[in-house]
Amino acid sequence: MVNWSPPFPVIGGIPLGAILSAGLVGIYGLLLGWRLRGPSTGPIAGVALYGGLGLLWQGLWGIAVWEGIPHLMRFTAWNLAGLLLSCLPFAAWLWIWPFLGRPLPGSAMVGMGMAAGIALIVATLPYRPETAKGLLAWWQAARWPGDPILASWGIREGLWGVGTAVGLGGLGWAYRHTTRPLHRNRLAYGLLGGLLITLGEGLAWTPRADWIALGWVIRAGGMGLVGALSRRSELPSLQRIGRRLLVFTFSWILQGGLIGGGLAGLRVLQEGRLEFIPAGVELLLTGLVGAWMTMVIGWPLHQWLRRRLMPSVEDPAALVRRYAQSISNLLDVQRVAQVAFAVLQEAFGLRQGLLLLFEDQPGGGVEARAIVGLGEAPSEPGRFALDSPILRAWQEGHPLTQYQIDFGAAFQSASPEERRWLQSLGVELFIPIRSQALLLGCLALGARGGVAAYSPADVDLLASVAEQTAAVLQNIRLVEDLRRLNVRLAELNEDLARTARRLEKLDRAKTHFIEIASHELRTPLTHIRGYADLLAETLGEQREADGTMERILQGLRRSALRLEEIVSAMLDISQIDAEALSIYPISIQIPTLIRMAVEPLEGAIAERRQNLIIEPLEDLPVIHGDLTRLVQALRHIVQNAIKFTPDGGTITIRARSVPPEEAGGSAYVEIAVQDTGIGIDPEDQVLIFEKFYRVGPIELHSTGSVKFKGAGPGLGLPIARGIIEAHGGRIWVESPGYDETRCPGSTFYIWLPVISRPEGSRVGEE
Ligand code: ADP
Repeated sequence: MVNWSPPFPVIGGIPLGAILSAGLVGIYGLLLGWRLRGPSTGPIAGVALYGGLGLLWQGLWGIAVWEGIPHLMRFTAWNLAGLLLSCLPFAAWLWIWPFLGRPLPGSAMVGMGMAAGIALIVATLPYRPETAKGLLAWWQAARWPGDPILASWGIREGLWGVGTAVGLGGLGWAYRHTTRPLHRNRLAYGLLGGLLITLGEGLAWTPRADWIALGWVIRAGGMGLVGALSRRSELPSLQRIGRRLLVFTFSWILQGGLIGGGLAGLRVLQEGRLEFIPAGVELLLTGLVGAWMTMVIGWPLHQWLRRRLMPSVEDPAALVRRYAQSISNLLDVQRVAQVAFAVLQEAFGLRQGLLLLFEDQPGGGVEARAIVGLGEAPSEPGRFALDSPILRAWQEGHPLTQYQIDFGAAFQSASPEERRWLQSLGVELFIPIRSQALLLGCLALGARGGVAAYSPADVDLLASVAEQTAAVLQNIRLVEDLRRLNVRLAELNEDLARTARRLEKLDRAKTHFIEIASHELRTPLTHIRGYADLLAETLGEQREADGTMERILQGLRRSALRLEEIVSAMLDISQIDAEALSIYPISIQIPTLIRMAVEPLEGAIAERRQNLIIEPLEDLPVIHGDLTRLVQALRHIVQNAIKFTPDGGTITIRARSVPPEEAGGSAYVEIAVQDTGIGIDPEDQVLIFEKFYRVGPIELHSTGSVKFKGAGPGLGLPIARGIIEAHGGRIWVESPGYDETRCPGSTFYIWLPVISRPEGSRVGEE
């Protein structure tokens, strides 16, 4: 039996190489299974294919090293393993390109295809008939050029070399050219995996069984790394790991050397001489082992003891961050104190913690309020003088300990009350809280747990914490100001509403007063008129004799009538104000309404030599309303027109029907009273409809029902408006302005709603 394979050790008839192969096949299988789970992206599929080929290769090895099976089969397995190995680097391109984030170029595909073809052809070489003899003697065969097996093997090695060089070269090139550290780190992992695989495969080409076996293991390791890479994006920094390893190794060798050197020195002192070999080397090794033990066991122990016995905040940045996060959204100082000291207690183990808040006092000095975070606080606030050395130190941002306040020379001048109050807080350390150089308060911390005093590092850390607190306190102040402002606004609003209610009441009272007063006035008036009439009748015959009595009686009557008119107007307006005007509607023809309003005024118009034009009133719809009231309103408008138009002027009355399109959906009748009078200032055009409003100075007031500019009590237009609005109508005036010389005139418009009636109820039909 010719043994052509490198001799693998055999245990109980089974070659160790086969056992190792089987184990590695299992590992490849596991890797493959793990990789095939979950979504299969481009690189994962590439790695999976590559892994599958690796598994096959390892399996073929397992057969090839098995002594008990026919040689041809073994050789074929061997030959196929060689075929696969020469193709594996090309298959690696399948994962390398996606790993670099690029699609596999067409040229690479062609290259891969060609390599596979060549490898396949080459793999058939050893089976040619003329080399069949050499088949069994393959291993022993002299390696001379021209041997087909050797040639076949050589070509395959060459193929493998090319594939590997291209793959590794690509990874290396990408590694060198990327500027992004995290990408570079990933490439470093890829490169490491690639190098391990290459090393493993390189060893598998050698003719030594132990090297080959080592190559398998190394290759499997590299494959595992690549597989992990294709799955994970978060990778620890290889550079950092490398540097840490370097630092460790360096200090280990240094310490080992020092210990070894020391021991050697001692030995020399004891014995006078030292052989480098073996005693020197032995001492050096002892030193290295000692140093390794110190570093791997001693150092962590040291750290642990240090943490136990000298507690310090492990990660100050994390503490400040946690602190800021916990308090940043709070809007209440009490909560801030509680949450802040809960965090600080965790870090420092303190039992007493207060938040002092300072506020300037109106009479000078500063008041300090203690808000409890942990433990207890005095109920009384503390008071500090403006020139207190303690306050000044805080204002300048210096943390103070209670010890410094008690014994420091600089603070001896502080008032006894200040010192007593601070002592009553039972705290150890005060860290000022400042915002823009303004002292807002202090963090007052009790003694820290375990050890007696705060270290300088602790104080620095607490100063950062205080800065975070300052921002939050400032926020709270702003919000409180805003809240106060809001409350004040609400109070003002309430005041305003109260005033409005009071005014309303007063207005009602006034209306009541007018109502009562006019009632009270009406009765005696009626009596005066009655008696005047009686007197006139009684005096009957004597009247003619002399006109004096007649004049007196006329005057008495006129005054009484005018007074009655005014009292009636006041009564009307009070009813309108109280929305208690009674309306008794009937169908009304507009011409009738106008005639009834105008008729009693004809005498006055004649007296004032004015022209009254009533334009033809045709085709007007019938309206429904209280005839008496509407006549009263319209008459007043016409009366005003007479009053405010100079003698000889013209008053025109016209009416028209307003279609719904013009009046927002409802039909109206418009009555317009136009005069050539003094006009009304645009500013007054709305106000004249308010009760008691009159245009111009009150001193120029002259009474008269129709005489030029003879004004009344300023109730006529408000009453007219009240009546018209009670009918669902509108009244307004248009005038270019007030001018007594040019007399631009005014036009009063009245709109009264037309409420739909049966067809044909038109003027003249009813
Ligand atoms: P009064 O009872 O005093 O007449 P009104 O309410 O009728 O009060 O009118 C208020 C004021 O409106 C009048 O004093 C007058 O100044 C002005 N006014 C009313 N009608 C006219 C008009 N046609 N032309 C000019 N001014 C007018």
